[in-house]
Amino acid sequence: EACLHEIESRVRAIADYPRPGVVFRDLSPLLADPQGLALCIDALAEPWRHARLDAVCGIESRGFIFGAAIAHELGCGFVPLRKAGKLPPPTYGVDYELEYGIARLEIAKQALPVGARVLVVDDVLATGGTLEAARSLLEQVQADVVGGAVVVEIEPLAGRARWQGTSPLRALVRY
Ligand code: 5GP
Repeated sequence: EACLHEIESRVRAIADYPRPGVVFRDLSPLLADPQGLALCIDALAEPWRHARLDAVCGIESRGFIFGAAIAHELGCGFVPLRKAGKLPPPTYGVDYELEYGIARLEIAKQALPVGARVLVVDDVLATGGTLEAARSLLEQVQADVVGGAVVVEIEPLAGRARWQGTSPLRALVRY
């Protein structure tokens, strides 16, 4: 509890960004603070210490920061899920809808063996479209998605409902 307060107090709310009416949750102060960062990575990694993960898959770009640190903490590998055109071929990809337009997430074809046990990591769960896309991409490469982890969940957007299946999706801080 005290630890979650330490984390929450370092998340900055920015009104009307990137558009009027949107409250953006800025995690930069949390990352910049040694104690906040350490508490956050420890809390994100904790539930997975005995999960025998093969890799943490972080979503570009803030999911890389948290994901790589969690992978290090858990002693497993890190595999980036990247935006279109960033990875050299061969890749697998999935297109998904944003509020305005289409985005694409890609993974290197050889990144994970079939059946690899992976945790998907991002900074924020909003509408859930990004995590849903990440999950479907990982299913395409026949990875075993044992869970998802985010620092912040924006509950009114109901993104959690798009997380299909039985594996747990954990958020440290909810708004
Ligand atoms: P979703 O696909 O769930 O709507 O949006 C999640 C993605 O958008 C994440 O990759 C996240 O980085 C970004 N995002 C959406 N809202 C916020 C926010 O309030 N703060 C931050 N830092 N990222 C956000």
